[in-house]
Amino acid sequence: QDNGKKTGRFMLKLSGEAFAGGGALGVDPDVVHAIAREIAAVVRDGAEIAVVIGGGNFFRGAELQQRGMDRARSDYMGMLGTVMNCLALQDFLEKEGIDSRVQTAITMGQVAEPYIPLRAVRHLEKGRVVIFGAGMGMPYFSTDTTAAQRALEIDAEALLMGKNGVDGVYDSDPKKNPEAVKFDALEYSEVLSRDLKVADATAITLCRDNDLPILVFELLAEGNIARAVKGEKIGTLVNA
Ligand code: UDP
Repeated sequence: QDNGKKTGRFMLKLSGEAFAGGGALGVDPDVVHAIAREIAAVVRDGAEIAVVIGGGNFFRGAELQQRGMDRARSDYMGMLGTVMNCLALQDFLEKEGIDSRVQTAITMGQVAEPYIPLRAVRHLEKGRVVIFGAGMGMPYFSTDTTAAQRALEIDAEALLMGKNGVDGVYDSDPKKNPEAVKFDALEYSEVLSRDLKVADATAITLCRDNDLPILVFELLAEGNIARAVKGEKIGTLVNA
């Protein structure tokens, strides 16, 4: 997979929270449109872009569980939430003149294709953005893990993790600790041993075992998606 080989294909993991904009819940169309414009620009420049969007702007299974719901059922609610984000992004990509396909891990034929990896690759080769919805289709997983797994399966050269309100990985929470120090680069093992907030351990382990580099960057800073795709020095790069 990595061998220095560049495929020009990237997996973009978008923060679901960012999709809510100023609101606590749901989708802010202005934010989604801004993100779609940035994705459209890199696609026009020739990059192949696959997308996984989180679901934190709707439901998180673990949070519903804490409030008394069954974990697996609330995880399914979380997965269904991500599909709404996918449809919102698809709509604004269309308005930017970019073709896209949503593929979901839970079948829902009226709104999306089922997840078919080889077909996803064909879409990418034709310049379409492929948006993967409903996570892995399995409770107890995360959209970070989904992004890592799909990135590997479609042979993306890197996992670009766009975060909401933080421009990389810090040694402590920069929103709580003004002394927090940002890392420019990190090894997978450090992320795991220091329990740094990059992604959950399942996702990090998958990337480590398969040499998939992760770039953590601020999603909503204008031009950042293009910088991430071009390999400019932004955010924090996690690799071996
Ligand atoms: N989810 C799941 N399996 C997956 C992907 C997501 O069960 O493969 C559920 C899980 O409940 C999660 C929610 O969908 O909390 C939203 O996904 P996301 O990864 O955004 O959760 P967050 O990272 O925001 O907690």
